[in-house]
Amino acid sequence: LYICHVAVEMAPIAKVGGLGDVVTALSRAVQEHGHHAEIILPRYDFLLASPLLQGTTFETEMDWGGCKNFVTTCIVEGVRVFFIEPSNGMFKVGSVYSTPSEDEGKFEFFCKSALEFLLQTGRQPDIIHCHDWSSATTARAYWQDYHHYGLWKPKVVFTIHNLEFGAGAIGDAAMNAQKFTTVSPSYAGEVGGHPSVNPHIGKFSGIINGIDTDIWDPMDDQFLPIPYCSENTVEGKEAARNALRDRLGLRKDRDCPVIGVVSRLTSQKGIHLIKHAAYRTIDRGGQFVLLGSAPDPKIQADFNDLAHQLGGDMGAFFYAYDEPLSHLIYAGCDMILVPSMFEPCGLTQMIAMRYGAVPVVRQTGGLRDTVFDVDHDRERAAWEIHGSDDYTKEGMDGTNGFSFEGTDEGSLDYALNRAIDCWYNDREFFHKLQSRVMTQDWSWNKPSLDYIELYYSAIKG
Ligand code: ADP
Repeated sequence: LYICHVAVEMAPIAKVGGLGDVVTALSRAVQEHGHHAEIILPRYDFLLASPLLQGTTFETEMDWGGCKNFVTTCIVEGVRVFFIEPSNGMFKVGSVYSTPSEDEGKFEFFCKSALEFLLQTGRQPDIIHCHDWSSATTARAYWQDYHHYGLWKPKVVFTIHNLEFGAGAIGDAAMNAQKFTTVSPSYAGEVGGHPSVNPHIGKFSGIINGIDTDIWDPMDDQFLPIPYCSENTVEGKEAARNALRDRLGLRKDRDCPVIGVVSRLTSQKGIHLIKHAAYRTIDRGGQFVLLGSAPDPKIQADFNDLAHQLGGDMGAFFYAYDEPLSHLIYAGCDMILVPSMFEPCGLTQMIAMRYGAVPVVRQTGGLRDTVFDVDHDRERAAWEIHGSDDYTKEGMDGTNGFSFEGTDEGSLDYALNRAIDCWYNDREFFHKLQSRVMTQDWSWNKPSLDYIELYYSAIKG
C-alpha cells in the first residue's frame, strides 16, 4: 500500500501533542510491515532551524492559490516528508497553531495545496489519511473537487484525535471519508452519539494509538544517566531520579515517592486535579514535578501561587514544552498522573509505563483502555493484556496502575492515596509492578496492523 498522510503536526520537528507522535510513528510502523508512507506538512518558518532537515531538497514548484508554492522534501525519522511553502508567507507565524481564525485560513489553504501537489505530480496513493479538523478540508475537497480526475482514485481515511475542536469540519470530513476512526475504542464509544459522528457510525471505529518504542526507549535514551530495562528498573530509575532532583533543585535526602505530570495545561487535562495532586503528594511526604506547556497566564499564576504555598524543595513546576526534560521525568518518577476530564487516547500513560513509572489515571477514553487498576481490574486486564479469561493463573496478572472515576478531588485521592500507600508500605510489590509495566507492549505493533486492515477495507469500499 501507498499511504499519504496530510497533517499539520509531525514529531519531532513540528509536534504540539499526540497527533504529531501518531503521524510519525504510524507511518514508520506501516513501513515496517512493507508498505510505503509519506507525509505532507506545511513548511513552517521555525523548521528552518531544525537539524533534522539539513538534507532537504527541492521537489517541485506549482502556481496555485494565487501564488507560487514551493515543495521541498526530506526523509525525517525514516519517512519521506513533503513540505509545502506558499510564497504568500502563510506558514510564517513562528508556531504550528496561532489564532483560530488564522489557523482556519492557513490550514484550508494547506489542505487544498496538498491535494494539488499530489495531483500535479501524478502521485497515486491508495489512501489519503487525514487527521483532525486541521486536515479535514483535504477529505472534503477531495470528494468535492478532485475525485473526478480520471484514474486518480485514492480512498480517504479520517482520524479524530480530539473532537473538542472543529467538530463541524470533522463531521464534513467524516461524510466524505471511506473510513472514519478515532484513537481508542472507549473514546469511540464516548463520542458515538455526537452529531458529527453519529450519522457516520457505520464506518466509525476506535484503534488505540501506540508509542514509538525507538524514540521512547530507556535502554537507549540520550537524556538519561544510565540505560535500564525491566531487569534493572530500580537502579535505572534511581539514577534518573537523582538526575531529575539535581536538575530541578529538589532535595535528595528523602526516601519518598516522586510523582510527575507531563501535559498541556488545558481544562481537558484536569487542571484542578493536577493542583490537588501536587498538594496531596507533598502533604504525604512525596515530591511532585509538573512539566506543563501552553498554559494561559491565569493558569500559570494559579500554579505559581500553589508552588509558593508548598515551598521550594519538594515540588517543581515548569511551564514549557521540553522534550529532554520529559524523558527524565518519565524515568525519574515513580508514578505519572493523568487526571484528564476526557482523553481520546493519551500517550503519556503508555510512555510512563515504558519507563517503569506506574500510571495513576482517571478512567476515561484511552486511559481506560490502557490502564488496569491493581485492585479492581484484574479480570479485564487478564483479558485485554494476555487474552486469558482466568486472571488467577500464574503470569496472567496484567494490572498496571491505579485509577479513579469521578472528576472531584476525593475521587483522585482514592487512587493517589492507594498508589502512595503501596509505595510506602509494600515496596517489593511496587517494584514488581514497575518491572511489569515495563514489559507490557504499548508499541505500534498491533495498532499498525489494525490500521493496515482498515486501509484495505477502505479500498474494498
Ligand atoms: P495531547 O495530544 O492531548 O497533548 P497525549 O497524551 O496524546 O496528549 O500526547 C502528549 C504528548 O506530548 C506526549 O508525547 C507527551 O510526552 C508530550 N508532552 C505534553 N506536554 C509536554 C511538555 N510540556 N513538554 C514536553 N512534552 C510534552
